[in-house]
Formats: sequence, C-alpha cells, structure tokens
Amino acid sequence: MTGLSDFFNRPINYLRISVTDRCNLRCVYCMPPEGITLLSHGEILSYEEICLVARAASELGISKVRLTGGEPLVRAHLSSLIRMLARIEGIDDLSLTTNGVLLGRYARELKAAGLKRVNISLDSLRPQRFERITRMGKIENSLQGIEAARAAGLHPIKINMVVMRGVNDDEIADFARLTREKGWHVRFIEFMPIGEVKSQESRVESRESRGGGLQTPDSRLQTKEFVPISEIMERIESLGILEPHSLHGNGPARYFRLPRAEGTIGFISPVSEHFCFKCNRLRLTAEGKLRPCLLCDEEIDLREPLCRRASVDELKCLIEQATEAKPSGHRLEGGTTARKRAMCQIGG
Ligand code: SAM
Ligand code: SF4
Repeated sequence: MTGLSDFFNRPINYLRISVTDRCNLRCVYCMPPEGITLLSHGEILSYEEICLVARAASELGISKVRLTGGEPLVRAHLSSLIRMLARIEGIDDLSLTTNGVLLGRYARELKAAGLKRVNISLDSLRPQRFERITRMGKIENSLQGIEAARAAGLHPIKINMVVMRGVNDDEIADFARLTREKGWHVRFIEFMPIGEVKSQESRVESRESRGGGLQTPDSRLQTKEFVPISEIMERIESLGILEPHSLHGNGPARYFRLPRAEGTIGFISPVSEHFCFKCNRLRLTAEGKLRPCLLCDEEIDLREPLCRRASVDELKCLIEQATEAKPSGHRLEGGTTARKRAMCQIGG
C-alpha cells in the first residue's frame, strides 16, 4: 500500500460508491420533483466492475468504502456486493448510507455479508411531515429499519437529518433529545445547493402549510431554508452544554454529547464552515464516473476502460488522476456548485 494523497497533501483514503441512481423515496432536497432520467441496467457498473475499482483503490491506500445511491438497498442482491468487497484486502471499513426503508428486510443479511455499520437518513419524526419531505415515505418503515439495524449489530448507527428552515427546524431539539432517550447518534447536516433541487420547483410545504419550500437561491446559492450549523448548535444548547466527543467517522462531522446522553450529536457544515481542507474522499457514480469533488462537475470516466477490461494498473492511474484533480475547496461562496447531477445521482 502506497498511501494516496492529493496536490494539497490531503490523505485520500475513502471511496463512496453509488450503486444505483434509483430510489424508493423522492426527498425534496435531493431529487427534482419530476424525478431524474434513470440509467438502464446496462449503463450501471456491474458488481464485478465495482469490485475491480475498489481493488485498484485499495491497492493505492483506500481503506474505507461506503455504499450509497440513490437508495442502495433497491439494487438487487446488494449483500453479494458487500460480501465481495469485504474480501478485498485493505478495505477495513465497509459501511452503507440508506433511507432505512428496506433495512427491516435486509439488515441481518447485510451484517452477515460483512457490512460494519449504517448511516440512516431521517428528516422528521412526524409521520405526515416525513411523508411530505420524502414525497411518499412512511415513517414506520424507516423506524423499523433503524430498529432492525440495531438488532443486527450494525453499530454505530448514525441518523442523518438535513435541517431546513420552516420545514423541519422545529424538530432539532427533538432529534437531539433522542441521543438521551434512545442513545442514537444524530448528525445535523446543512442543506447543500446542488443540481436542480435548489430551484423553485422542488417545494415542500412549510410547517405552516403556506407553500414555503426550497426556494430561489441567493447569490451565494443559499436558500432561505438554509440553517447554519452555528444556529443549530445554539438551539441544542438550550438542552444542556455540548461537550466535545471523540467519536470519529470517515469524514467531516464534529461530535459532541449532551449531559447524560449515551448517543452523540454530530454537526456537518459543508456550507457555513467548509471543511474541504480535510477532505479525504473520492466518489464513484453508478455509471462509473469518478468525481474528485462533490460540489464540482468534473468527472473521470472509468466505465469505458472497465468495458474494455482495463487492467488494475490502468484503473490505478485513473484513480490517481482523479485524486490530482481534487480542487482545494468548493466555490459555493462564488456562486458555483455542481449542476450536472442531482444528489441522488452522486450519493451524497
Ligand atoms: N438514499 C440514501 C439516503 O437517503 O441516505 C443514500 C443516498 S443520499 C443522496 C445520501 C445522503 O445525502 C443522505 O444522508 C441525504 O440526506 C444527503 N443529502 C441529499 N441531498 C442533500 C442536500 N441537498 N443537502 C445535504 N444533504 C443531502
Ligand atoms: Fe432517495 Fe436518499 Fe435522495 Fe432521499 S436522500 S431521494 S432517500 S437518494
């Protein structure tokens, strides 16, 4: 293993792999209301191709892999991919980001296949609001999924909440309390403007049902629903002092704990306090594009070389090329974001 690092000396050891662009939900902050043009089965990488990329990446020093989507659990036989990835030498942390809807069915099988842990997206604890935000979801399925993940031992389970002003920000304290009441690890994420969902079309009714929503961005691409992490922290501190905690993941979250809480509270602030200086990741889309940065449109194609059965060494060169292409940071302040894809086509 050589250890991969980029032009700015950031160690790159983490690969997020999107296994599908399909999803069983339509979250307002992730997908345009009309949905997306879906890839056909022939256009997405096979499990063998994904594993070849993962092998090349691991030989370069990538040790952490996360599967995402779309919704990764809608792809058939995901546990076989997990089993294949778990056998690759050098990959010591294999995790999944999911909306949890199908975890009730698959959690045990995934664990048995070698999955270590899951992050589950949950943006409201209120059934009707949950249904509006996801445009179709039933909260009981996600809650059952969380329970199934716990029972299967997919620890630590982290709950991701994207906070939106006027949509679900009145539930910040309720989510924070769950770190005491249920021992959950809850992470608050700033809404990121990306793809089409920052436009006026992706509306969710506001709390007051007056048709608020993710509206026109201002010049810095922030919507009026954007809530900075500093404000989220302030609101949580009404419940008690947040003590820094050493829980660490693969990424940029800063962790804290409320007094008497078993679970932790994480804050992810890609927009207000961006953490690009410690970015450690590359992203592979379902059709085989390697993205140096979530918020820039540049991509390096791995699909064509995979189709002509390129060697692992050639794939390693392309992964190195993507690493070298990582920008020093995103340019949201200048009004630039990724436009080519919605978040569900990248994987978060
Ligand atoms: N379907 C899975 C899920 O929902 O967890 C995995 C894919 S989803 C694209 C990955 C993560 O991206 C989720 O935690 C989701 O909340 C987050 N996400 C999607 N759109 C976002 C946005 N505009 N701003 C911030 N986070 C976003
Ligand atoms: Fe689907 Fe996840 Fe995007 Fe929601 S956040 S639409 S569950 S991919």
